Amino acid sequence: MNKASMEKIVSLCRRRGFIFPSSEIYGGLSSCWDYGPLGVELKNNVKKAWWQAVVQQRDDIVGLDTSIFMHPRIWEASGHLKGFSDPMVDCMKCKMRWRTDDLDGDVCPSCDGELTEPRQFNLMFKTFMGPVEDEASVVYLRPETAQGIFVNFQNVVTTTRKKLPFGIAQIGKSFRNEITTGNFIFRSREFEQMEIEYFVKPGTDKEWFDYWLKERMNWYIGLGIKEENLKLRPHGDAELAHYARCCSDINYNFPMGLAELEGIANRGDFDLVQHAKFSGKSLTYLDEDSKEHIVPYIIEPSAGVDRSVLAFLCDAYDEEPDKDEIRVVLHLHPALAPYKATVLPLSRKEHLAKVAKEIYAEVRQCWMTGYDDTQSIGGRYRRQDEIGTPYCITVDFQSLDDKQVTIRERDSMKQIRIPISELNSTLAAKLGGESFEVLPPGGSHQMGF
Ligand code: ATP
Repeated sequence: MNKASMEKIVSLCRRRGFIFPSSEIYGGLSSCWDYGPLGVELKNNVKKAWWQAVVQQRDDIVGLDTSIFMHPRIWEASGHLKGFSDPMVDCMKCKMRWRTDDLDGDVCPSCDGELTEPRQFNLMFKTFMGPVEDEASVVYLRPETAQGIFVNFQNVVTTTRKKLPFGIAQIGKSFRNEITTGNFIFRSREFEQMEIEYFVKPGTDKEWFDYWLKERMNWYIGLGIKEENLKLRPHGDAELAHYARCCSDINYNFPMGLAELEGIANRGDFDLVQHAKFSGKSLTYLDEDSKEHIVPYIIEPSAGVDRSVLAFLCDAYDEEPDKDEIRVVLHLHPALAPYKATVLPLSRKEHLAKVAKEIYAEVRQCWMTGYDDTQSIGGRYRRQDEIGTPYCITVDFQSLDDKQVTIRERDSMKQIRIPISELNSTLAAKLGGESFEVLPPGGSHQMGF
């Protein structure tokens, strides 16, 4: 059962330093969020796990990191200037702006005021490049990372000599002037995406579309998301985006209900054809078999970093009865946990603290490690459970004599005692070494206690 309510997740994130409201000391800025010391670790780990799975561990996908500002013609070619808009109405009384789709009646839901006629509202942020603010210097903050990949298609083919099918992956910030934001980091105006554009021979696109649906579902499951919380939702013909031949969303059972975590689209040859037309450059691929120049089709798995972070947090959250109390624990996959281990000296006494700090200095050379010497040991275990630390290393007075420490495992709460000299190798074995093993669907992480 999913015990996470949005209030609990937001409160935990705020309290423990995962995510803060942006500009908080100035009263905050609507729907903008700052990742705190633990949040940035979690978010980086999500991105690292994605990059490992789609770039490092494959031989058919290469990475890219393109500029946020791009030539404004790109947004004409992509259709964003014309089509990337929602029909909106304004309230003439309270000035609130609403998405027509979200309204039941024809008066303002906030003040019952009269509404304007619907009009299109472009979701791209616009600004000026250079010292002059005129039409010629207008640029946009990209609303997706994908276009940076399409316009580099030829560069990547020439420099990497990749053969079809192959992909290009990118992680980066995107910006959309969303009308309705909310549900914490689920929908904001500045967010990060993890996108793959996978180029295939026309005719093989259906197979590859199905392949990527499975592959991407398995990525979430392998990192601990419960299968029953994921649901594929194929788009009906009427809701398909202008570029898509078919599209399926991977929906996650968020506290507010099922909602999109990732979209997987078969974009056909739309993007390369459009950019060839608008740039005047050939964007074809020489097929070695037929000796013909072809325009590859594109399968696009497009995921949100922030929505993934939220899904991993919600899925990991649990409240478990423990004696007379409830322990709050984040069962995060070790690859995602902000700290892999935390060192806890039983007391602050100097001779004990010295040994604990030496251990801390050594362990943190290998993994993100915490150190906590405040409050009771039970309270400190709880705090580490709540932030998802897989292992606590407890240094007690006996450690001074027998040169051993206790390792306590988050999920089972079991403890073992091992020599300090074997600490790093034991943690390496338990954590799966430098590159964490992503388990197949249904697999559970064996802690080996
Ligand atoms: P939605 O229907 O929720 O607005 P979308 O279909 O417009 O999303 P895409 O254009 O397919 O989203 O973008 C791909 C992914 O980028 C989404 O699945 C989501 O994870 C992420 N994403 C899109 N918009 C936002 C946003 N405003 N805030 C956070 N993440 C977003």
